[in-house]
Amino acid sequence: MSEKIIALRRIRTLFNLAREMIHSRPDLSQRYVDIARRIAMRVRIHLPREYRLLICRHCKGFIMPGVNCRVRVQPRREPHVVITCLNCGGFMRIPLRRRGSK
Ligand SMILES: [Zn+2]
Repeated sequence: MSEKIIALRRIRTLFNLAREMIHSRPDLSQRYVDIARRIAMRVRIHLPREYRLLICRHCKGFIMPGVNCRVRVQPRREPHVVITCLNCGGFMRIPLRRRGSK
């Protein structure tokens, strides 16, 4: 239990650092995010949603809107956001429907 809390705290710190370094040292940002993922795996927790969106599902790269990914809102039919990773060209589709989502 406390192990997971400590892990989460570390993950938060790592992502904050990654965000700060994305412009000056993107290589370091990527390393921080890799470490955060490894910590989460070790204590078997899911990364919080806000952080999961910052990692490309395909290449596991750290992606930041306006830096190395493109975010488009697709309002038709089922509203969703499409995040395109500019590292690998892969995209992730995130449904916007919050309430009653299956
Ligand atoms: Zn990618």
